Amino acid sequence: MAEPKENVLMEKIVSLCKRRGFVYQSSEIYGGINGFWDYGPLGAELKRNVKDLWWREMTRLRDDVVGLEATIIMHPQIWRASGHVDTFSDPMCDCLLTKKRFRADQVEPQSGIVYHYSGARDIAAAKEVNDSFAVLLPAGKPPESARKVALQFYAGRGLPTAELLGERTEKVENSQRFNPENGALLTPPVPFNLMFKTYIGPTATEEDVAYLRPETAQAIFAQFKNVLETSRQKIPFGIAQMGKAFRNEVTPRNFTFRSREFEQMELEFFIKPDEAVEAIHGSVAQVPEQGHPGEPQPNWGWQAWHRYWVEERVRFYEGIGLSRETLGFHVQTAEELAHYARATVDILYKFPFSKRNDKGELLGEELEGIAARSDFDLSQHERFSGKSMGVFDEDFRNAWSKLDEARRAELSRRYHESRLKYLTKSGVASERAEREAKEDADGLAKGQYIPHVIEPSAGVDRLILALIANAYSEINDPDEKGKSETRVIMRFHPRVAPIKVAVLPLLKNKPDLVNKAREIRDVLRPHMNVFYDDAGSIGRRYARMDEAGTPFCVTVDFETFEGIKEGPRAGEKETVTIRYRGATDEENGRQERIAIPQLLPWLLERIQ
Ligand code: ATP
Repeated sequence: MAEPKENVLMEKIVSLCKRRGFVYQSSEIYGGINGFWDYGPLGAELKRNVKDLWWREMTRLRDDVVGLEATIIMHPQIWRASGHVDTFSDPMCDCLLTKKRFRADQVEPQSGIVYHYSGARDIAAAKEVNDSFAVLLPAGKPPESARKVALQFYAGRGLPTAELLGERTEKVENSQRFNPENGALLTPPVPFNLMFKTYIGPTATEEDVAYLRPETAQAIFAQFKNVLETSRQKIPFGIAQMGKAFRNEVTPRNFTFRSREFEQMELEFFIKPDEAVEAIHGSVAQVPEQGHPGEPQPNWGWQAWHRYWVEERVRFYEGIGLSRETLGFHVQTAEELAHYARATVDILYKFPFSKRNDKGELLGEELEGIAARSDFDLSQHERFSGKSMGVFDEDFRNAWSKLDEARRAELSRRYHESRLKYLTKSGVASERAEREAKEDADGLAKGQYIPHVIEPSAGVDRLILALIANAYSEINDPDEKGKSETRVIMRFHPRVAPIKVAVLPLLKNKPDLVNKAREIRDVLRPHMNVFYDDAGSIGRRYARMDEAGTPFCVTVDFETFEGIKEGPRAGEKETVTIRYRGATDEENGRQERIAIPQLLPWLLERIQ
């Protein structure tokens, strides 16, 4: 079958990734291991830049977010409390003919005629089996095609010269029960838990089972009280963490997009419940449904905070070169939302492999989800650990004492209602749920509540893939012999580019040029990733840097020692040529002459 056109681009990207050392298959010399990827020299730099930028923007440049670095293996109760042990599963099914495994909800829906068989008989082998089987054929295909597949199936059951039994047909539409590659029936879907299991200690019994974390978020909830007590933060504030996560995905695919080992960058931003905001400020701020709501305000409720974080995250993506047009948004519907979630917006990137809508426009795949998760997570850990996750809020207690009776009763009733809903939905028996919800509502008078949370949760590897796909572009240039050749230019934003600057002496055999170039490299090196290259023609060296996505190339040439002769900067000694690759066509290949002492500030301004 011909590959869809988009995948041609994906294939080029995958091949460039390997050729230039962005991404390799893990354990490649042993044939690889499905769903695991390694980052080569350029990929490792790109990834580090992205993580550093996220960390800087989410924690260091803010007063209201602190960091955490927790272990990958944690107490197994954490995954019971979070719901992962019971419900973190995908439906899985296998092809009855080839045994190929599918995620049942991702099987391409198909329509056509199903040929059912009740079994088969093999006279020569004097054998009959009554295992039923079925094959789906697109309308118009001859029944022989179905029979051929069915005969292969029964041959696999020990009937090499079978005669099919009980053939009947049925028309189906949009069925996900058949293997799209051969039409064979799939096994019924069974839930498959995605957590990787391991054992702690040498006995390896069921009691020693632990899990590799499937997300980084839960450690944040589990350490919430410690961080609150040791960081001098007050609600609202956030805890950020990034690190490895593991999911035993049924069908890893689309290069690194769905991997089994990956990295996440997650923030849990804890806020007051709306009842507390209303008690203090009279009402919660109304925010427009679109656009950034501006600087955080004390009277923000969950909706304003949710909107704020969606827009902040979009700004982050724009700041590293993913324009709004390359992104998509998916607002989860009431049916898609978990029972405790108030709203979730997924930020999507339009990957070359993304599905298209009726108009042929790319829809995009999830880069990050921003969820308003109510007080579910802390409440779960409170119930499972028996440790209080409530906070004492002095401003709230003072405000509460000044409210009139009717207002207190109103806010108390609403808080009680939402606590009761949470407890009942979590399976707490009604009498106990009623008692605990009342205790929680009574806590309001003492200034106590369980914080709510807004969670922007992003995947590092998906972002790296988006940045690579976004940077990829091709140009047609004459090569050294004047023949037109297609070259790849990776147009990374300078903030994420793996190599920030290449320092190139025009000629390798001129000690003056080489020494000056090395001197420049040594000045720049403590501040950024610099690549020194003196091998080959200057054109070839530029081309190599284009493929690596290096935004700036500094060339030391004979003019270097002549200084600037004209214009406002006349008299400046020792200059270099900077050639840059920009996101826009005008910037591409633009050259500028700059005095060497200006070089570091010039570059720093552009890469930070
Ligand atoms: P999906 O629906 O695509 O499986 P998800 O909704 O399960 O993703 P979350 O649990 O919200 O994902 O995880 C947060 C982020 O972690 C995702 O937005 C994504 O960027 C990243 N992520 C999740 N699963 C994987 C994976 N298998 N490989 C790479 N990144 C992942």
